[in-house]
Amino acid sequence: MIDPTAYIRDIFTKPLGAQVTAHGWVKTRRDSKGIHFIQLNDGSTFQDLQVVIESAIIPESALSQATNGACVRVTGELIASPGSGQSVELKASELQVYGPADPATYPLQKKGHTMEFLREIAHLRVRSNTFGAVFRVRNALSFAIHKFFQDRGFLYVHTPLITASDAEGAGAMFRVTTLPPGPANPAEDFFGRNTYLAVSGQLEAEIFALAFTNVYTFGPTFRAENSNTPRHLAEFWMVEPEMAFCDLDGNRKLAEEFLKSIIGYVLDHCRPDLEFFNKRIDNTVLATLEHVAASAFEHVTYTEAVALLEKSGRAWEFPAHWGADLQSEHERYLTEEVFKKPVIVTDYPAEIKAFYMRLNDDGKTVRAMDVLAPRIGEIIGGSQREERYDVLSEKIRAKGLPEESYKWYLDLRKYGTAPHAGFGLGLERMMMYLTGMKNIRDVIPFPRTPGSAEF
Ligand code: ATP
Ligand code: MN
Repeated sequence: MIDPTAYIRDIFTKPLGAQVTAHGWVKTRRDSKGIHFIQLNDGSTFQDLQVVIESAIIPESALSQATNGACVRVTGELIASPGSGQSVELKASELQVYGPADPATYPLQKKGHTMEFLREIAHLRVRSNTFGAVFRVRNALSFAIHKFFQDRGFLYVHTPLITASDAEGAGAMFRVTTLPPGPANPAEDFFGRNTYLAVSGQLEAEIFALAFTNVYTFGPTFRAENSNTPRHLAEFWMVEPEMAFCDLDGNRKLAEEFLKSIIGYVLDHCRPDLEFFNKRIDNTVLATLEHVAASAFEHVTYTEAVALLEKSGRAWEFPAHWGADLQSEHERYLTEEVFKKPVIVTDYPAEIKAFYMRLNDDGKTVRAMDVLAPRIGEIIGGSQREERYDVLSEKIRAKGLPEESYKWYLDLRKYGTAPHAGFGLGLERMMMYLTGMKNIRDVIPFPRTPGSAEF
């Protein structure tokens, strides 16, 4: 019996002797006397299906075209594999080549490509071991995120990508316009005003939290920051839960539970992919994830964190003192050397944090939290929001922000306000953490960075 729709993943679960059909792309091919071995992959699992072809059985016209990169359909019998590396293999009785790939020009060769080169062939890199694993993990992670929030009754809300608010405070923005280049009058533009790509969905998520209690966004976000670092993209995906009737402690606990849950899901569902990352990319990945999933996160206030940095005796590139923002070197020291696990830093100075964070009674610090993770630094940023009308409008004035733009945001504090809190997780930062991949450009299908928007 032939099952024409089976993924290679499913073929591995079939009994020996089963007649099966596999579709996929040839990853590698090896020839010896009268017998040919093809490693076939359809993206459904890390493990390639080994196809064994006897020259006598398959016409040379088809066989000669089944080279690296070709797309083929193979039918045959599942047999025990005498070779190492796989327990079963497919003994071909039929081979059809859907699409050959000229071996002289096919850019994805067996090995030895740099990540930089693979980025230039992002239309083909997805067929490699590394990128197959990356995008299966990204898929599982995305599902785990939805599952975590849906299991807890959170409402999934789609916040707009085009925004008229130019002062969300999270980073430089891209302008959205249909006007020709040159001096422009915003009143003549498509929306009759200046508009931008959103840097965050938080402010709109707050609207929804004050109607649906617990909500989350999960979508693309844009920042025109000209920071060419391995951790910054101009277009990335962000997850932003927002909870009514929640304070900073609740926020911190949810962030910890959330990270452990999504890590646990990926550990349970992407084992072969993670084992590959552990073997080939970073040999600490599995141990770190298992450790993080099982251990309690550390919690320190900003003031305590600065004291730790000051007494470290380190020569910092950016000196640490109360009032200065924590730099990457500080964040990594705290999480990698002092605590050796994720650390949540709370209660930062008001001056260095966004206007919407709730002011503490000391009048100097706000109810902010950053979750710092080994290797990555900041992975989550969040806060309890200022829910008091007077305090918030004073903050907006003091920061010199345009009050008219925040009318609706202030209205939320005027009509039925409630304590509420939330955070943002950068999906790609989480991906780097899960996979050990060193450059954020290699955990998103088609990276957008300064000077680069291929594909
Ligand atoms: P950083 O200091 O690393 O630039 P941020 O303080 O600008 O981060 P937030 O505004 O708090 O970050 O955004 C929430 C989360 O989004 C961050 O914790 C991070 O995971 C992610 N993030 C922020 N900027 C980027 C970016 N340019 N590319 C990818 N992820 C990002
Ligand atoms: Mn930033």
